[in-house]
Amino acid sequence: MSLYPHLLAPLNLGHVTLPNRVLMGSMHTNLEETKDWNRVAEFYATRARGGVGLMVTGGMAPNREGGVFPGASGLFSPEDIANHRVVSGRVHEAGGRIAMQILHAGRYAYGPDCVAPSAIKSPISPFPPKELDEAGIEKQIADIATAAARAREAGYDGVEVMGSEGYFLNEFLVAHTNKRTDRWGGTAENRMRLPVEVVRRVRQAVGEDFILIYRISLIDLVPEGQSWDEVVTLARAIEGAGASILNTGIGWHEARIPTIATSVPRRAFAWVTKKLMGEVRIPIITSNRINTPEVAEAVLAEGCADMVSMARPFLADPEFVAKAAAGRAAEIAPCIACNQACLDHTFAGKISSCLVNPRACHETELKLDPVAKPKRLAVVGAGPAGLSAALALDTRGHEVTLFDKADALGGQLNLARQVPGKEEFHGLVDWFTTMVAKSGIAVKLGTEATAEALAEFDEVIVATGVRPRDPGIPGQRGANVLSYIDVLKGAVTGPRVAVVGAGGIGFDVAEYLTQAGDSPTLHLDEWLAEWGVADPGTARGGLAAPRAEPPAREVVLLQRKPEKPGRKLGKTTGWIHRATLQAKGVKMLGGVNYERIDDTGLHVSTGPDRSDPRLIPVDTVVLCAGQESERKLADALLAKGIFTHVIGGADLAAELDAKRAIDQGTRLAASI
Ligand code: NAP
Ligand code: SF4
Repeated sequence: MSLYPHLLAPLNLGHVTLPNRVLMGSMHTNLEETKDWNRVAEFYATRARGGVGLMVTGGMAPNREGGVFPGASGLFSPEDIANHRVVSGRVHEAGGRIAMQILHAGRYAYGPDCVAPSAIKSPISPFPPKELDEAGIEKQIADIATAAARAREAGYDGVEVMGSEGYFLNEFLVAHTNKRTDRWGGTAENRMRLPVEVVRRVRQAVGEDFILIYRISLIDLVPEGQSWDEVVTLARAIEGAGASILNTGIGWHEARIPTIATSVPRRAFAWVTKKLMGEVRIPIITSNRINTPEVAEAVLAEGCADMVSMARPFLADPEFVAKAAAGRAAEIAPCIACNQACLDHTFAGKISSCLVNPRACHETELKLDPVAKPKRLAVVGAGPAGLSAALALDTRGHEVTLFDKADALGGQLNLARQVPGKEEFHGLVDWFTTMVAKSGIAVKLGTEATAEALAEFDEVIVATGVRPRDPGIPGQRGANVLSYIDVLKGAVTGPRVAVVGAGGIGFDVAEYLTQAGDSPTLHLDEWLAEWGVADPGTARGGLAAPRAEPPAREVVLLQRKPEKPGRKLGKTTGWIHRATLQAKGVKMLGGVNYERIDDTGLHVSTGPDRSDPRLIPVDTVVLCAGQESERKLADALLAKGIFTHVIGGADLAAELDAKRAIDQGTRLAASI
């Protein structure tokens, strides 16, 4: 009997039976834009080999005006179709199935030619859309149907029509963006005419024996969103128009509520999909923050959906399904929902990858092939850089010894996981621990490796990390001053705290200090109330007034730069951290000089002329002033002429994060 009987059960769609209930959801990786079709094909084929039931490609534009940005990929020419055949062919060779997503971005298209039901600019784009006339609407429908026919010609097993997240089809559905008074707007029946007509025409274009997924917005999370009755009516009409599966979309991109970030509780929106179960006969897929086989199985066992969509977890581990099926779930590299290497890359125009798996989207370039002549290697430091290097070196067949002076693996990851909303880091440390235990790595914890003792190895990889920067503030040795390390290890602060430094760690510490009791990430009802998410059955679009719990402490967060604190946080997650702290009443001050600390608090002034001297009356000052490289060992090894590589924070402390550390560790291991 399988450990995951619901997840691994086949799904019969009539003309085809999927081997399990796992969909790899669509992700825009920017891979297609490289035009390296071998690389694109290898990305998907790797995941097909890992056993996923069905995959959906990144969004392909049906026409130029519907592209997410000018030049976005689509199927416009015979050459495009031939390129996509490379992808579908390689997936089929690997035993997988793949559907192409058709994404018309509507007013979210980042370009001057964008079109929409009404000429209303979105708050997340500088480009006002053109309102379509009747002929323009017909052209969009025809282009989407043509794209679907081309997808079939290109060898795909199906298409997904993107109807959620605030894109073109979704924009027609709600009064928020559709002010039309013709047959495409006004009443609910008119507003849903376009998506239903699109599905009808797509079905007509592709024939019966082709998978047609419609991604339906179940909870818009924007003002004037759809009512639940409208959602159910639409779902039934989409089924009637020929869809074979309904996939779930949660929230528009412009929503003020996070829907996939790490602080969103696991399976936070499965209850919304459950409301739709029984309303249609075709299978329904649930999604958002499902990242382990246990969670996916529970969601299906509880009748929340017929199938589960996971996207980012397949960047973290292409073998998610195969490992689950083999009873090796603890070996699945966990997606920690950080967005740091996937969505943050996508939005910066870079190729996506994954913080925990730098090989994602780099399968053809970053390889961990076995070595002909294994070496005896020492890795010093069991933080993310050292761990990833050690594991990758072991994979390649080297003989590896891993040292750390601490008694546990994980380094700074052990601090990150204390922060409310970063609970996923527990899973990452657990995964590293599992993988090291099953590897051939000799582990020496609680051991300070010296240059003398390391002389016996062929090469040494130093990953000794960072130490906190000394900001040199007069009075900082007082009993009322703590470092972030003390605080995250449990040191007690007073009720009023000043946090010196508003980088990633300053923000983390401010969240830690203002949170009273358990993290809301672990309590779905509390989290929904804090962010103002209501049952869409009672509130249009599922919106309610946010209700933040009172802060545990009064916190002031400071930096010297005269800019908005938090500007350098992740592109797709920084706003969540800022909103969380604002809701907790945290005051954020930029452009300050730290004059001194005494018993009364922190004395600051403003600007280069040190004007406006004043006291910030606090009980405790917490120093989060950045990091410096810990290079003592590296310098000693180099002085002795020992072959040494330096990685992670020990190499470069500035802007260090786990993404860079893991990437550098893996890439070094690939080169030794
Ligand atoms: P950081 O992001 O470099 O921030 C350091 C802070 O200290 C800045 O606010 C800086 O602002 C201040 N500072 C620098 N030198 C100072 C000095 N001499 N005296 C007083 N203040 C000083 O470093 P971090 O916060 O320690 O974070 C380390 C790394 O981990 C960063 O790369 C960060 O992005 C990453 N991280 C990321 C996340 C995340 O959520 N993605 C979370 C935690 C950490 P001023 O110079 O303006 O004063
Ligand atoms: Fe998940 Fe972070 Fe990897 Fe993206 S970068 S797939 S969010 S672990």
